[in-house]
Amino acid sequence: MHQTAHAEHAAAAHAQMPISDVDVCIIGAGPVGGTLACHLAQAGIKVAVVDKADLPPMEDPDFDGRAYAIAAGPKAYLEEAGVWDALPLPSCPIEDILVTDGRPGEPASPLFLEFTREDANQPFGWMIEARSLRVALNASLHTTPEITLLAPAEATIVRRKEGATVTLHDGRSFKAKLVVAADGRKSRLRSQAGIPLTRLSYGQTAIVCAIAHEFPHDNSALEHFLPAGPFAQLPLPGNEEHPYMSAIVWSDHDGLAERFAALPDDVFAMQLQRRMGNNRLGQVKPVGRRWTYPLSAQYAQRYTDTRMVLVGDAAHGIHPIAGQGLNLGFRDIIALSKILIAAHNRGKDLGAPELLARYQAECRPANMLMLAATDVLDRLFSNNNPVLRFARDVGIAGVNRLPALRKAFVKHAMGL
Ligand SMILES: Cc1cc2nc3c(=O)[nH]c(=O)nc-3n(C[C@H](O)[C@H](O)[C@H](O)COP(=O)(O)OP(=O)(O)OC[C@H]3O[C@@H](n4cnc5c(N)ncnc54)[C@H](O)[C@@H]3O)c2cc1C
Repeated sequence: MHQTAHAEHAAAAHAQMPISDVDVCIIGAGPVGGTLACHLAQAGIKVAVVDKADLPPMEDPDFDGRAYAIAAGPKAYLEEAGVWDALPLPSCPIEDILVTDGRPGEPASPLFLEFTREDANQPFGWMIEARSLRVALNASLHTTPEITLLAPAEATIVRRKEGATVTLHDGRSFKAKLVVAADGRKSRLRSQAGIPLTRLSYGQTAIVCAIAHEFPHDNSALEHFLPAGPFAQLPLPGNEEHPYMSAIVWSDHDGLAERFAALPDDVFAMQLQRRMGNNRLGQVKPVGRRWTYPLSAQYAQRYTDTRMVLVGDAAHGIHPIAGQGLNLGFRDIIALSKILIAAHNRGKDLGAPELLARYQAECRPANMLMLAATDVLDRLFSNNNPVLRFARDVGIAGVNRLPALRKAFVKHAMGL
């Protein structure tokens, strides 16, 4: 049978199959929802995952230049969920972070902050390519017996005190004790539940891409604060063609960022070089696609509703200044899994209001703190005011001289 006809036949046969009731239905199989599903399934909880996108099990996508910095706590969670070992591409540890301040085309200010391998007993984080995480997750979602994967599919959900009913657009329906909204920044479940959202716009857009460079990065990252927004270089594993590679997250004014992103390779490389504050990587060259993301912070006023919780970007979005967006989402699901697995082991109802209230109490205050911290950092650093420049340079150099404070920052950022 022709392959397409075969796929259509399989999909049609699949559509006839009834779906068993589950304990938890997760809407959205992004990094947060997908990993939560794998983790809960490991603990014997029956999970359904619905995603509107197709999630091919054996995807072999091309290099696309996007990557995540994963902190130690979330890495351990990915390991427990069986996802980390399924990553098809190597990760790269971040062992040093240099924080500097400056202007494009000028050397960085001599006052700097450096987190070194002596500040921690393990790397600050691990860089993984976004496509690598996607491949590992999709493969796990397809092969884990406790997971019913429904994709591509969309669902209508009715939530009542006694339980939730999920109806797919093909007419099939099933019951769940808890619905997890992991459907990203524009979460439909969040708006359908009438949960208010507060949004702060930064007037900045991030340019995300990968670069190849002349000298090795030695597993070091750079956060260089510029008047238009922070510029970050994060170490990536090299490949045969490009032995030394890094990821770039360059935030600049809206409008300007799109124009920079559209520059020819050689001019773009020159603009990158002007923003690095030092020449420790030598000549740089962009590799693969360039992506632009308008930046805003947002937070949901509450994380719960009847038989529903919000996790990941559906609950909060922050400035990528500290590379913590996804890590916050992972912290949500680390807390939620603990609560749900303990309740499951005691035979309790996984959608009970007191469990959901405990989840919100554990996560929301800490997430609001991180949102406020990244917001203040961006506002303090993304400007050219000479008084603020002086104050922040003295501030970062001051933190650099206080090992105990440096270690406290590190511990928090690693999610430990
Ligand atoms: C420029 C930039 C750089 C970043 N860098 C980092 C970094 O270095 N480190 C870090 O930790 N974070 C980083 N982040 C943040 C990170 O990308 C997000 O926090 C992360 O993708 C959130 O994951 P999620 O699973 O919550 O949502 P998403 O990744 O948005 O996934 C949502 C899923 O839900 C599905 N979906 C949506 N609507 C529906 C629906 N109605 N029905 C069914 N399915 C639906 C989608 O198809 C998708 O699969 C960065 C963000 C930006 C913008």
